[in-house]
Amino acid sequence: MDGCHGLGRRRDRRHGGCARGAGGRGMSAEYRVDLDAFARNLSRVRAAVAPARHMLVLKDDAYAHGQDAIVRRALEEGVTWFGAFDVATGRAVREITGPDARIFVWLLGDAHDLAAGVAADLDLGIGNEELLDDLGGIAPPTPARVHLKIDTGLHRNGIRPERWDAALTRLTALVDAGAATFEGIWSHISEASDADDDDARELFLAARSAAVQAGLAPRFSHLAASAAGFARESFREDIVRVGAFSYGIRPAGGPGEGELGIEPIGALTAAVVEVDADVVRIDVGHLHGLPSTLRGRFSAATPAGPRTVRSIDATTSVIDAWTGAAVGDEVTVFGRGGAASATDLAELIDTIGEEIALRVSSVVPRRYTANGSRPAR
Ligand SMILES: *Cc1c(COP(=O)(O)O)cnc(C)c1O
Repeated sequence: MDGCHGLGRRRDRRHGGCARGAGGRGMSAEYRVDLDAFARNLSRVRAAVAPARHMLVLKDDAYAHGQDAIVRRALEEGVTWFGAFDVATGRAVREITGPDARIFVWLLGDAHDLAAGVAADLDLGIGNEELLDDLGGIAPPTPARVHLKIDTGLHRNGIRPERWDAALTRLTALVDAGAATFEGIWSHISEASDADDDDARELFLAARSAAVQAGLAPRFSHLAASAAGFARESFREDIVRVGAFSYGIRPAGGPGEGELGIEPIGALTAAVVEVDADVVRIDVGHLHGLPSTLRGRFSAATPAGPRTVRSIDATTSVIDAWTGAAVGDEVTVFGRGGAASATDLAELIDTIGEEIALRVSSVVPRRYTANGSRPAR
């Protein structure tokens, strides 16, 4: 797959890429996603979490990489579990995967969501007792696959430990009535400190023991995301829900991509639209999602090597020139093939790499490259 999408663009013969039209219309900025690199990350994640399974987390349009293309390639690479956030997303993913994949959703609002989730054959992450009551109320035509969430300290949602036994009683009634199967117990941890995570894991294990004692043995346990899934074997359980590392986004202040064995898959690129004596202008700016607070603080990759980004305006940015710079030259602002990764930029403004990727506006077309080369399984 390789092509130019969007209006006002033409094939640029010199660069073999997509460049701005000679008349100055349109926009050259693109978010390029290398699906072969994505496939390599998937095999790396699979190896790192094995024998646990990898659930590919897809929230926010696959961390802004474009959910459809990501899901299709993941399926080809043998991913069987998808973490789709809400029911609407889960249904969209189900349309792509067909019946076999397991699709876990965990943002459920009400009985309507539950009914729609069951109808789309989704795995439902349930984090409060009201939803269990709602489930009894709708009496689903096929049993809902319930993953019960214990709140292990993040207090986002999840059943508080002191309410866990009451929730188990409700779930037992649902299972007995044929309205639910107990598929999983799960939680989400901060991964900010090992000590906090250890405390969370203890609560998690206690909740699981209580469930088993109540006659409810979950088929699956899942607790960790990228960081703990890679670093801490005892957190892997049956499934590890990995988002960031699948897309090659390393943790801010943590180990580098090389150490983790992952590679960035996305790159924000733009073309030179104006050349002055000392600087050039490229047509990507803060309206496309590049934080203007980064001006003067990082380098973009140009055909002549890294050059400092001097200013970030609404739809264009100014960077230091190089000898022979020409309109149409391509610059990688950040990401794959660039001088800075999303997380490198994030660290400059005290945020995380995911945030930098998610800011890339949806008006910036996503373009996919793939040679079809498959990594070894
Ligand atoms: C976002 C999210 C993940 C994935 O986290 P990463 O750090 O991106 O791997 C896993 N589980 C839940 C519940 C999440 O919201």
